Parts: sequence; C-alpha cells; structure tokens
Amino acid sequence: MAGRLFLVATPIGNLGDFSARAIEVLRQVSLIACEDTRHSRVLLDHHGIGTPTTSLPAFAETERAQGLVARLTAGADVAIISDAGSPAISDPGEHLVALSVAAGATVVPVPGPSAVIAALSASGLPTGRFHFLGFLPRQQSDARAMVAEVAGLSATLVFYESPRRVAETLVTLHELLGDRRACVARELTKLHETFERGTLSALAARFGAHEPLGEIVIIVEGRVGEARWSDEEMTRALTLGLSAGERLKSLSTDLAHRGGWSSQDVYRLGLQLKSR
Ligand code: SAM
Repeated sequence: MAGRLFLVATPIGNLGDFSARAIEVLRQVSLIACEDTRHSRVLLDHHGIGTPTTSLPAFAETERAQGLVARLTAGADVAIISDAGSPAISDPGEHLVALSVAAGATVVPVPGPSAVIAALSASGLPTGRFHFLGFLPRQQSDARAMVAEVAGLSATLVFYESPRRVAETLVTLHELLGDRRACVARELTKLHETFERGTLSALAARFGAHEPLGEIVIIVEGRVGEARWSDEEMTRALTLGLSAGERLKSLSTDLAHRGGWSSQDVYRLGLQLKSR
C-alpha cells in the first residue's frame, strides 16, 4: 500500500503557532522534505524531531518530486514543510501533491499558519469570497495584465509582496482598480505586527514615503457598485471611445474597470468591432 504525504504547516513568525499534531506527524514520518533543510533544522531541533530530512527547493521541485513519489509508492510516509507557513501556497509542494495524487498516494493536510488567511481574516474587508494572486510577476507589464484581469471581480483580492516593491505595487493597484479600501498586513504573528488600513491612494502615499521592513500581505476590496455591464453596454462604450480616437489598449483597461469586465475580454470585443 502506498504511503501518505503529509503537508505540514509551520509558524510564520510566532513559534507558538506550531501545532501539537504537526510535531507528532513530523516525528512519525520516515522522511521530511524541506524547502531548505538548514532553515528547518532550527525548528526541528527545537522540538526534538530527529526524522531524516531531504531538500525540496522550489527550483528543483519538478526534478526531485519523482524520487519522493517513489518513496511513497514503496509504502513510506513522507512530510513536506516549507520555510514558513503552508506548503504548496506560494511555496514548494504543489507539484509533489499533484504527482502523489496521480500515483495513488493519500495526501493529508496538517493545517496551520498561512499568511493569506491570517491577513485576510484580520483585514476588516469582506472575507466571504476572496481571490488569492500570490506574488505579482516582476515584469511591470505582466503584473499590470494580471491586475487588469481581476479588476472586475467583486471578491476581495489578496497579494503577497516584498517590502521593496510594496509602494510601487500599491500605485499600480490604485491606477488599475481605482481608489478602493485596502489593508497592508505586516509581520504577522511577530513582535512588530501591524495592519495599515485606508484607501489605495493613501496607502501608496504612506508606503512611498517610508519603505517598510518585514513581510507583507496586501488585501484589496473587490469591485463594488453597479452591476457588470451587458454586452450591448460595453459595445456602446467601446464604439464611442474608438470613434473618439482612443487607443484600444488603454480604452480596454479603463472600460474593464468601469464595467466589471476583464480587460482581455474588452480588448477582444474591441478588435471585433474594429474589424467590422
Ligand atoms: N507558504 C507561505 C504561507 O502559507 O503563508 C507563504 C510563503 S511566500 C514564499 C512568503 C510570503 O508570504 C512573504 O513574502 C509575505 O508576502 C507572506 N508572508 C509570510 N509570512 C508572513 C508574515 N509573518 N507576515 C506577513 N506576510 C507574510
């Protein structure tokens, strides 16, 4: 019988957030795959967990996952941990889980800290529906395309971001989403935990003036207001804009924001109109 793959969450700051079950599981498995073995050794030693470890960094996950699946199919129980938080959430694990499922192994989550849930739950913004984007692409044009794509969603948006890029990202979000309510959660569960709440423009100004230290999650309110424009309404707005000489690319971004569409859909409709 195939072994089990345990996805074990580890603290994102406060060491007290390591669950009793997580510790027990890590003691009992045959092998722990760590995003970084040296980093995790400190936590494992602190809890007297002597289980052998192997390294599973993000850049080598595809290549090393096969070997771990072979261990699982041979009947061994294996755990995976990342440097902090929940494995497979903007961290190694996703590929290994997919391969393990395909190989017939049982995948067992051992849930615990994750920055996306901690930040969202304390943000003060609607939590009923949310859309997690992880880190935006480094390339500005790719980042803008990804934000434009979700501009019409009414679900709350959650992003991971580095402190160096937070101000620039807040400016981009303000530009593409309008002046929505937002929250910047910093250093969750740590000594200097802070939540800065305000509009995107106010937060962009605040973080533009002072680059923050530490780890950051940005939460932005979803689209509020009028209902999504119908095909006819969008066609009318596009026709007006194009006949006034506006460029289709910028017009699509603007109308997508106002009409609750994805900018790609508006762009596609605009191309159809132009070719008529
Ligand atoms: N797997 C992790 C999880 O479940 O939260 C996320 C790993 S991802 C590589 C690291 C990013 O998560 C950081 O750059 C930051 O955006 C966010 N993050 C992690 N710990 C955090 C904390 N204590 N406070 C705020 N953000 C945090």
